[in-house]
Amino acid sequence: MASSTPGADVNYPVIHKTRSAADAEPNLDNYEATCANFDWASIRAELDGLPGDQGINIAYEAIDRHVSKGLGDKIALRWLGKDGTALEYSFDALRRQTNRFANLLQALGVGPGDRVFVLCTRIPELYIAALGTLKHRAVFCPLFSAFGPEPIAERVNAGEGRVLVTTRKLYEKKIAPYRETMPNLEFVLLVDEAGGKSELPGTRDLLALMEAASEEYVIGPTGPEDMALLHFTSGTTGKPKGAVHVHQAVMMHYMTGKYALDLHEDDLFWCTADPGWVTGTSYGIIAPLLHGVTMLVDEPDFDGPRWYNILQQQEVTVWYTAPTAIRMLMKLGTDLAQQYHFPRLRFVASVGEPLNPEAVVWGQEALGLPIHDNWWQTETGGIMIANLPVLDIRPGSMGRPLPGVEATIVRHLEGGGIEEISEPDEEGELALKPGWPSMFRSYLHNEERYSRCFVDGWYLTEDLAKRDADGYFWFVGRADDVIKSAGHLIGPFEVESALIEHPAVAEAGVIGVPEQTLGQMVKAFVSLNPGYTPSEALRRELLGYARKRLGAAVAPKEIAFEDKLPKTRSGKIMRRLLKARETGETLRDISTLED
Ligand code: AMP
Repeated sequence: MASSTPGADVNYPVIHKTRSAADAEPNLDNYEATCANFDWASIRAELDGLPGDQGINIAYEAIDRHVSKGLGDKIALRWLGKDGTALEYSFDALRRQTNRFANLLQALGVGPGDRVFVLCTRIPELYIAALGTLKHRAVFCPLFSAFGPEPIAERVNAGEGRVLVTTRKLYEKKIAPYRETMPNLEFVLLVDEAGGKSELPGTRDLLALMEAASEEYVIGPTGPEDMALLHFTSGTTGKPKGAVHVHQAVMMHYMTGKYALDLHEDDLFWCTADPGWVTGTSYGIIAPLLHGVTMLVDEPDFDGPRWYNILQQQEVTVWYTAPTAIRMLMKLGTDLAQQYHFPRLRFVASVGEPLNPEAVVWGQEALGLPIHDNWWQTETGGIMIANLPVLDIRPGSMGRPLPGVEATIVRHLEGGGIEEISEPDEEGELALKPGWPSMFRSYLHNEERYSRCFVDGWYLTEDLAKRDADGYFWFVGRADDVIKSAGHLIGPFEVESALIEHPAVAEAGVIGVPEQTLGQMVKAFVSLNPGYTPSEALRRELLGYARKRLGAAVAPKEIAFEDKLPKTRSGKIMRRLLKARETGETLRDISTLED
């Protein structure tokens, strides 16, 4: 299978693709020809559009389209609960339930364009609320359930959320005590964690509202540029940014489901990402349903033996997961994996952070299949670069651009502007030619920041990368200070802001330090106010304080005390110096250091 090819990592030779007779015919069998002949109009033609030429709506394409074609009885969602229960929703059941949700929004007076936030663990109501919101042409805004009250309120306020769908437990812990800090929030719709009825003061019972709502709903005219999804993402500075996506993003979800994930009608597809993040929405809800496949949702968090069991028992055929999860499986040993059998598994892909070459190769030993890394980000709305099923895999590479996607590497010029780097293997910033349908349309209420992303006709990703002579892209690092921990993007500013609100903390600098499993771990350096001295007790107090406010997904895992933090002459904390010190690297340019 493997041989060495120029341009590849010498330690991890290229994995050549061979196909056995048992494999599905890939949706993309000739990369060059598909790219050369690609046009978005043919992708649009594979979707239906709303009846009566009323536009294009993500939820219609995902659900109702299949029902109208006679697939109503097919299982759309198979849900595995943490207590061992399993629930199945056919496409028709999903159609009726999401209609009810759209009707209840209507009854509450929520209209198209209004923002509906969802803060739930992976329970069926999350999926119903997401798709019902899209049917009603309101905007689905997911929140990760491991966020603490501060990141939640920040996002609800920035997005002017009118509705929040959440569970009783999450509400009691993370919303109720802070409710008055979210003045736009009119309706909180509550569901019990176990799927039962629930109502607390100031909230409505979601299931009772659903029961009272009609199962029939006609989706109103939906323009391709109508706002559909609002995903928050973090930058180096400032508050989280709300990336706005529109209904015609559905073409990208569909195309990438077809070519990058190779979805076929009879697939059992499992995306392990939580819908609180963009992957869990684009590929954990939308793309599989667009292809009419059965998608699996597992309620609990990572559990190695449980996951292997699911892959085996549920006969998963296409699995989309993340590098941290793969590394956690690797830690459990190949022997464990080899106790299971995955006879129907035919394609495995991963996204969100660098996939180390050993993980690609481990897939072959443990699962019998290599892992296909792919690259994209919140702003792109869908997979942009991938180790496509038909292409040879270069372990450690992110792969090649999808059809319809133009990617390049640019260098920044001294006088401003950029130029493309044509020489292979040279490091620069990864840039994309605007125009793909799921490109973000703005950062909500931040046009200036949005326009800065586009220079000389290219969208700049803030990722540093290289392209080899054969057109494969290789990730190098981030151009900014954001942290990727367990695949989750964390803005250092959000963490620093929470820490400096503690009376003991004078200054805080937050960085990601390399960690074997998580990729990066959030570490904070703090200097203390007069009257406070470093101690183990204070360190623990600060860790607990940050965790309570920010939640486990964002809070630092380590805190170190410093007399003084390194700053630029203009007073900005130099995170890159903290990072270089931590990793033992030498910084190339410290000319702006204060002293
Ligand atoms: P997010 O917007 O949270 O999805 O994060 C996007 C960022 O994750 C990208 O800009 C990259 O920095 C990183 N990322 C995503 N996929 C990959 C990958 N395959 N390899 C390396 N980094 C990745």
